[in-house]
Amino acid sequence: YFIDAQNIEGSFIHIDPYNHKHMQRVMRYHQGDRVICILPDHHVYIYEIIDIEKGILQQKEELIENNELDVEVTLIYGLPKNDKFEWVLQKATELGVRRIVPFLSQRSIIKTDEKSFEKKRERYTRILKEASEQSCRQTIPELTSLIKISQLEKYLGDVNLVAYEEESRNGEKSLLAKTLQKDYHTITIIVGPEGGFDESEIQKMKELGVQACSLGKRILRSETAPLYMLSVIGFSREL
Ligand code: SAM
Repeated sequence: YFIDAQNIEGSFIHIDPYNHKHMQRVMRYHQGDRVICILPDHHVYIYEIIDIEKGILQQKEELIENNELDVEVTLIYGLPKNDKFEWVLQKATELGVRRIVPFLSQRSIIKTDEKSFEKKRERYTRILKEASEQSCRQTIPELTSLIKISQLEKYLGDVNLVAYEEESRNGEKSLLAKTLQKDYHTITIIVGPEGGFDESEIQKMKELGVQACSLGKRILRSETAPLYMLSVIGFSREL
């Protein structure tokens, strides 16, 4: 469980109503059961349930655990239709993404704006939190506000790759694999919406030092492409 600072009192936690309900009704925990809690400083502890009715836990021992990828991955992602976006939030979290930056571009299919996006933030935050808990992460990925594609520069990292299907025909086939062998701490991957990228958008990204890469011969759906890239990064770092 991810714990907010306001719920911590010394070595005790007074669990928030949402997690309390989960512990009681979903997990059916009892007094004496032990749960793993991640504190705001990302340290992980085992807590014992002292009073399940009141939702009081006591700290027992620290777990020296780090399940985060050893590189910080930012996914800049062409916002797809809502259910697909929620699915990608969940799966990208499982695969270790650190930050998700949704954008609108010329070929975005969805008709929305920043205000409508923000109305769904609470739901998106819950999806990120639950996926982080389920996959035993120490960090909940950050979801930035909705940007325009022209604003992506500030999210670039040591290595920057945009998935572009035209590169599958013309470009260097092994660019993705080769790039991932380099030494880097932060990597930014960029994936287009259902309608893909306009050539001028790719050109502007290249001017910012972003490399266009192929994800193979087949055209992947906009929700498959980021998961493919995250899986390849995970494979190159952990397996
Ligand atoms: N423009 C295409 C079309 O409508 O036929 C498809 C766009 S694809 C569904 C959505 C995004 O996934 C693309 O913008 C790209 O970032 C990524 N993508 C999918 N397949 C890819 C591939 N084989 N190589 C590189 N990128 C790919």
